[in-house]
Amino acid sequence: MPALYLIPVSESWRPQFNRTVNTPITLNTDDVPEQLAGYDSLRVWGTTETDSPKKQAHMDRLESGDWILFYHSGEFIATGSVGRIFESSTVGEWLWDNPESSFIFTIENYEDTAPSIEHVWDILEYDGRQVVNGFERVRDDRVQRVLTEYGSLETALFDADRTQIEREKSALEAALESEPQLTENTADYTTIRQRTRDRAFRELVVEAYDETCAVCGASRHSPDGTPEVEAAHIYSRSENGRDDVRNGIALCRLHHWAFDTGWIEITTDYTVSVFINPDREEYHEFEQLDGQQIRRPNSQIPHPDYIAARRQL
Ligand SMILES: [Zn+2]
Repeated sequence: MPALYLIPVSESWRPQFNRTVNTPITLNTDDVPEQLAGYDSLRVWGTTETDSPKKQAHMDRLESGDWILFYHSGEFIATGSVGRIFESSTVGEWLWDNPESSFIFTIENYEDTAPSIEHVWDILEYDGRQVVNGFERVRDDRVQRVLTEYGSLETALFDADRTQIEREKSALEAALESEPQLTENTADYTTIRQRTRDRAFRELVVEAYDETCAVCGASRHSPDGTPEVEAAHIYSRSENGRDDVRNGIALCRLHHWAFDTGWIEITTDYTVSVFINPDREEYHEFEQLDGQQIRRPNSQIPHPDYIAARRQL
């Protein structure tokens, strides 16, 4: 079971954090200490030896693959996992001019995006907690409860973070004030941010269509009330199609599949156009949809620019 560490980055260490964790250090000079040799670049963090038995016990148990949430001034600022762990005052001196920072670990899977602090306290059941005061290992029974409920720490920390999802939804709604843009520069977003955006996009599109398929009007739900309809990108994701609600359409699984495979298309006057191939049985299943109006939330959605761009692919 991976452990979860909460690691504070103090105000005075923030510049060093930015220099060796937020930006990977390049290791192409001659004076690289042997413990760091053999790498082109690495993200590295260190902490000082401690006279606190509690902190020491936490540090001693740190293992490769454990999760880290970096904390600064009231919020989590970054996430990552532990790579290698070693002690070296030489490395502390070389990186931070501080031989005392000799308890060193490398950081993998780093993201400068983190879950909201409210969400972290919520899933870990820390009622009313506010701050992280020291290098800390979250108690195993708390982590175990999270794993039982969510399946993985990653899912619990990021996919279930309502605060961040609502933040992304507000950003996507604000973007509706601007002219629609066809594509997204995916390099703008870290993996975690992109996952949160995907989730926000899906929720907004499904809500806009009132959980109903735009083609057939089906509105099925699972026993727990989860809608069956899915949010499809009109100008597709594989073309870097933008996460703009005007580029979304809610479709049941069958019609999502038919849309993806080319059996049905949407025209700029919001009708369904069925691919003609009477030799296939599926054609006869879909043909009666041809020329039907799709259901849409209002005249702005979906935007004809996205529909036209898809039809040109
Ligand atoms: Zn449908």
